[in-house]
Parts: sequence; structure tokens; C-alpha cells
Amino acid sequence: MEKMINPQRIRKYDDTLSGSGPVLYWMHRDFRARDNWGLIHARQQALLLQVPVAVFFCLQPVFLDATLRQYDFLLKGLEETAAALAEAGIPLLLRSGDPGVEMVRIYSELQPSLVVTDFDPLRIKRQWLQTVLDQGCTPLHKVDSRNIVPAWLASDHREFMARTFRPRIHRHLAAFLDPFPVLPAHPYPWTGSVAGEDFPSLRTRLRVDTRVQPVSWLQPGEKAAHQMLTDFVDQRLADYMSRNDPNRHVCSDLSPYLHFGMISSQAIVLALQRRGLHGEEVDAFVEELVVRRELSDNFCLYTSDYDQVSGFPEWAQKTLQRHQGDRRPYLYSDEQFDQGQTHDPLWNAAQYQMVTTGKMHGYLRMYWAKKILEWSEDAGRAMQIAVYLNDRYELDGRDSNGYTGIAWAIGGVHDRGWAERPIFGTIRYMNEAGARRKFDVKAYIRTWTPA
Ligand SMILES: Cc1cc2nc3c(=O)[nH]c(=O)nc-3n(C[C@H](O)[C@H](O)[C@H](O)COP(=O)(O)OP(=O)(O)OC[C@H]3O[C@@H](n4cnc5c(N)ncnc54)[C@H](O)[C@@H]3O)c2cc1C
Repeated sequence: MEKMINPQRIRKYDDTLSGSGPVLYWMHRDFRARDNWGLIHARQQALLLQVPVAVFFCLQPVFLDATLRQYDFLLKGLEETAAALAEAGIPLLLRSGDPGVEMVRIYSELQPSLVVTDFDPLRIKRQWLQTVLDQGCTPLHKVDSRNIVPAWLASDHREFMARTFRPRIHRHLAAFLDPFPVLPAHPYPWTGSVAGEDFPSLRTRLRVDTRVQPVSWLQPGEKAAHQMLTDFVDQRLADYMSRNDPNRHVCSDLSPYLHFGMISSQAIVLALQRRGLHGEEVDAFVEELVVRRELSDNFCLYTSDYDQVSGFPEWAQKTLQRHQGDRRPYLYSDEQFDQGQTHDPLWNAAQYQMVTTGKMHGYLRMYWAKKILEWSEDAGRAMQIAVYLNDRYELDGRDSNGYTGIAWAIGGVHDRGWAERPIFGTIRYMNEAGARRKFDVKAYIRTWTPA
């Protein structure tokens, strides 16, 4: 028998394992068959109970500001995952509707012995889970398969700085970098039949904006994610220290895969270790992938208003309030921002990069959000438009990283006060002159501005 998963990765709701039904793994954040602690736990429990295991996915026809671009990426990747699950004798049961409600429905049909699900701190996911718990769909185990160090263990409160969070992560990291077991065929075959959807019918349920089209430069799915990791390690990681130059392609491009859980950050770190890679570029990459990324989940876990001004630290709310009446040099409408029609060619180019590719370069995301603050009536409105555009166009949007990154740029989250200036108060400021010192701004504008 393989080693059971570390129990600290699990949060249990009513743990009386009874019933003879299957173990049902409700997948809604970590869309992968390999290296997935939630799935591994579900299968291990099913082995103990000697019952089949099934995976459940419910497509919500409208999700935050997602468009066809993100749904297409998710569904194509999920088809590949469904095939890998089938090889292990695990069906993927598909439905559409409100995921909380549909989960309650399938629970009453299957009477599972145990429900296992993904941890996710976003408000909408907490509501789904609450619906399921309110209806008594237990025992239920929530597994953190997104973070290497489970979010609840890393810290039991909101961390105000990476400086205080980093040692907490590093204290636990080695203990949680345990290897993943492979997914063998499950010995208790699924015999049930449940009414549901297939992939083509799921697509007909979508009620999303189809004007934001799928992209072709990035293939969805677990295999493509691992190929991207290999390409990054072989060809780009060595140059990672120049990652703040948006004209150079040195970043990993893993964020869309990480967002949809098509690859696990733990699997990435284990791959780096297996290859014996060291050096400042490896440390810098792990800092982003582990410390910064897990800090974002910490922020959203302990800040329910993570996308609002009230979620900013007190000093930031006060300084923004004091400067609320400052004259704005420019004010733009939603449409002008959306269409990249500001006076600033650099901002417009960044917007075009996001709109056309679904992935704006990381350095420019900071500049982009700060300028939205500078050119909006107030911080609340700036948050609204930045979150909307980020969630609408970015493949990796609707993620704790996005809400935290925007709150960092506009609301000083995980930052400190800087020199006081108009509009920003003591929130860190960025301007084009700073960008020019870092990279060839004209070249970037030439690349991304439509002819
Ligand atoms: C305003 C703003 C909005 C952002 N929106 C998002 C978003 O919607 N989704 C998203 O995943 N990231 C977001 N980020 C964080 C970061 O910019 C992206 O994760 C990164 O650009 C993704 O590209 P990559 O995978 O090639 O990065 P790499 O540099 O190769 O980094 C590897 C991984 O580390 C993580 N990471 C990198 N930088 C950060 C960071 N600052 N905070 C947390 N994790 C990080 C990501 O998971 C990333 O995929 C945002 C940052 C800002 C300032």
C-alpha cells in the first residue's frame, strides 16, 4: 500500500465514514489527473472502503468575467484529463448549472461514502461549498492541492508582508515536498450510470462572451503544461534574472496551467530538484512560484473582500482617502480602457498584449494597474475596472494571484509606504521613465500596437 497523503493537507467536515457508495471527488480548481493530492486522497479512501471512485465536474455557464477564451482552455484540458482518468478506471461525471446545487443533487443520487473536494479561498467557491455543507453532503474532505504548504498551516492569519510569510513557507517546505504516487488503475470499477452531459453538450450550455476568442499560441492540458515546463527549464530559466524585460521571453508561461491546476507547483519544484538545478535564477523562480503564489492564497483566504478597497491595509486606505480629491490628469471610461485608447502608448500596448494573447507580461501588469488608479476617479473604481479587464482577458485571471496582484498595485497590499505624491499618496508609484530604465519601451510598443 502506498503512503497515505499527509493529513495536514486535509480539512474534514463531519468525518464519520459510512455508506457503501463511491468516493466522489468534486474537482473545481485542480483540473488534473496526475500529481493531484485531492484525487490521490479520494482514491486512497476508496481503496480502504473497497468502493469505486468517480470525479465530478459541474460547468457553471457564467463564471465571474470569464469568456470563451478561458472556458475553451479549461474544457479542452479537461477532455485530456477525462481520458487519463478513464485509463485508471475513474469516470468523470459532467453536469452544468450551479455547482453547489448540482453537487447536492448528485450526492442524493449516488449517496457517496465520502466527498473530496479542492480547497479554494475565492468567495464564489466558498459559497458553493457552503451550499453543499448546509445540505449535509458529508463526510466531506477539503484538500489543498494548489499550495505546497497547505494554506491553513502556512499561516492562520493574514500575512502583511512576504518578509513574514517567507520563513513560514520555508520552515515547512521540505516536509511537504513529498513525491506524488502515480495513478494506477483503481481495482473497484465504476458500474453505475448517471445522467449527465458530455463535452459537446457542455459547450452548448455556455452563456459567455464569445468575442474574446481562444488563443492558439498556448495548448491547454496537462501534457502541454509539462512540455512548457521542460521548454522553460531547457531554454529560458537560465535567463530568468532578466524577467523584468518584457521584450525578452524568459518567463515560464506556466500561469495559465497553474491557474487551471493543469500542473502542480509541487511537481514543478520536484522537477527542478530532480534535475539538480541551483542558482539565483532557480531561487528567484521558486520565490515567485511558491512564496508569492502561496502568499496570494493567504491574502484571499483571510481577506474576504480581497477585490475591494476595504481589503487594503489601513495605511493604504487612509492615504488613498486623503488623496481622493486630487485632480486626475486623465480620466478614462471603461470602454477607453478596454479598447486601449489612453494617451499612453505603453499602457495601450500592454492592454493589446493581454487582449490578443491572454497573457500580459508580469512587469507590465504592475504598471498597467497603477495607471488605472492614476486615471480613475477613485481607488474603488480602479479596482473594479482592473479586476474586470484582468478576469475577462487573462487566461490566468480569476485567480488569487490576480486579486492579490491588483490589490498590491492599487492598494499597497504586501507593500509598504513610499514617498508621498498626488493621487497615490504613499502607495508605490510607477511611471514610464522607470520602465525606460528597465527595457526598450519603444520596441515593446512596436511589437504590441496594432498597425
Ligand atoms: C496587476 C497584476 C495582476 C496580476 N494578475 C495575475 C493573474 O490574474 N493570474 C496570475 O496567475 N498572476 C497574476 N499576476 C502575477 C504575475 O504577474 C503572473 O503570475 C505572471 O506574470 C505569470 O507569468 P509566468 O507564469 O510566465 O510567470 P513566471 O515569472 O514564470 O512565474 C512562475 C509562476 O509564479 C507565480 N508568480 C509569478 N509572479 C507572481 C506574483 N507577483 N504573485 C503571485 N504569484 C506569482 C505564478 O503562478 C507564475 O505562473 C498579476 C500581477 C499583477 C501585478
